[in-house]
Amino acid sequence: MPSNDPIIDFASAVAAELGADAITIGDEVLDRYGEHTLPGPDVRPGAVAYPDSTAAVQTLVRLANRFRVQLYPISNGQNIGLGTRSPVRPGQVVVDLGRRMNRILEVNEELGYCVLEPGVSFRAMHDELRRRESRLMISPTAGPSQGSILANALDKGGGSGAYADHFGMSCGMEVVLGNGDVIRTGDGSLAGDAHPNWHVSKYSFGPMLDGLFSQSNFGIVTRMGMWLMPRPPHIEPFFFTFPDDEDLAGIIDRIRPLKQTNFVPTLIRATNDLYLLSSAATHPEYAASGGARTLSDEGRAALRREYGLGAWTVSGALYGASREAVEPQLERVARHFLALGKGRRIPLDEAERIGPLHIAINSNTGVPTDSELKMLGWRPGGGAIWLSAGSPVVGEVVNGFQRKARRICEDHGLEYLLSNVCGARFARSVHAILYNREDAAETARADACYRALGELFASSGVFVGRAPTMYHGFHQAQRMPEFVRACSSIKAALDPNGVIAPGKYGIE
Ligand SMILES: Cc1cc2nc3c(=O)[nH]c(=O)nc-3n(C[C@H](O)[C@H](O)[C@H](O)COP(=O)(O)OP(=O)(O)OC[C@H]3O[C@@H](n4cnc5c(N)ncnc54)[C@H](O)[C@@H]3O)c2cc1C
Repeated sequence: MPSNDPIIDFASAVAAELGADAITIGDEVLDRYGEHTLPGPDVRPGAVAYPDSTAAVQTLVRLANRFRVQLYPISNGQNIGLGTRSPVRPGQVVVDLGRRMNRILEVNEELGYCVLEPGVSFRAMHDELRRRESRLMISPTAGPSQGSILANALDKGGGSGAYADHFGMSCGMEVVLGNGDVIRTGDGSLAGDAHPNWHVSKYSFGPMLDGLFSQSNFGIVTRMGMWLMPRPPHIEPFFFTFPDDEDLAGIIDRIRPLKQTNFVPTLIRATNDLYLLSSAATHPEYAASGGARTLSDEGRAALRREYGLGAWTVSGALYGASREAVEPQLERVARHFLALGKGRRIPLDEAERIGPLHIAINSNTGVPTDSELKMLGWRPGGGAIWLSAGSPVVGEVVNGFQRKARRICEDHGLEYLLSNVCGARFARSVHAILYNREDAAETARADACYRALGELFASSGVFVGRAPTMYHGFHQAQRMPEFVRACSSIKAALDPNGVIAPGKYGIE
């Protein structure tokens, strides 16, 4: 008997076809899935579905088309600071793939890749490689260890080590489209069942469709190949620290040649004091100012002294046959940075005693860690927004943005937290806006701060890399209308009834 509520009818049909445990509309669950850390109200889904196979995802899509409900796929829903697991719009049905689709389908030791379902986390993959005594390693992020490798790659996430470009290291997907078709990308698209090149060759016959499924709402990815790096015999993390905010220009110009020549195989991060220290300390002056003012210069200086860190800390790692083998390279890197005339090298044994540096030590050696999550406790109330802009790896440019963005954060009474993740040509500038989500005025300031930063970067010709759900429309409106129209045309072709997350990444 239809209820006239599409969600109820959808849920009944899903329960009938996939079993009662494949969907819930329980209040407590919906409340939990609606929570996030952004400066807007919680975004409560209409239901949460738990498929256990590609065929079950296909069933959900077919029924969504029939009942005209909207689906919002998540893998493990650890996207804290970007929306967590809440949908982009209230009432969308969260498809929680990670709960029951979390198998490691293949680990190929010889060719160095694995094939994963959406729910395989960095932690699970790391533990499995250890269990197998594999020669391969993962590239963890600094984020939650329970985050999905597949989802992080789809969201163009970045990790550590030489395989840090996670979308770049993905190879071959299986995708359920909004029209219900299941496609295999790349060499997997050949008819038949055997595809030896699916997860080893990115360049197959015809267009590369894989990119369509990153940061979009064009399909639900149910399987992905990921390349894994053979673990070098020795990994040597390195750290340098510099005293002043304005040192950033020189640091960035020193990083560029190290990356362009691949002398340093990992990405090199230049991270500011409060980005690092917020995972170890809480805002020492919050109570005194009621959160209205940003941390004073004296307060910052005292924290830096306590942890032995300067305004910027540079981190990366070298690979080699042994500690002795990498020593000459390390000395060259040290001479290169210290030629700036200031700053110092933090020897590894000292870095091991500095809590906030453990994140870089662990992630550069392939070990996932949850330590950075502690930054959400910097201010009370757990509010966090991530803003990922970027710029060419040119010191003057990166430092120019630093000056302006720092001023914007301070004008909004919020601390400036920045980590520049540098490759050979591009530096991703990851800003963390931490605020008290239980304080309405502070929440409004955090929102205004994000928007002001977003406008600063867009007006300078710089786009964000990924964005929190509540700002997807804001950013899509910043781009050329022809691009937006092209996205809508692709959406209409692959998902004619708009059942997969309309509004996600601003695509309708
Ligand atoms: C303190 C902190 C530090 C962090 N550091 C990093 C970092 O260093 N690098 C980094 O990259 N990230 C970082 N993050 C971000 C984040 O943790 C990860 O990107 C995240 O965990 C991704 O995995 P997930 O399972 O949580 O993704 P989900 O939340 O499940 O999904 C992420 C996005 O992908 C989409 N999606 C998920 N699965 C599918 C699918 N199967 N098909 C289609 N679309 C799908 C979702 O709709 C969503 O838009 C950090 C976060 C925090 C809180």
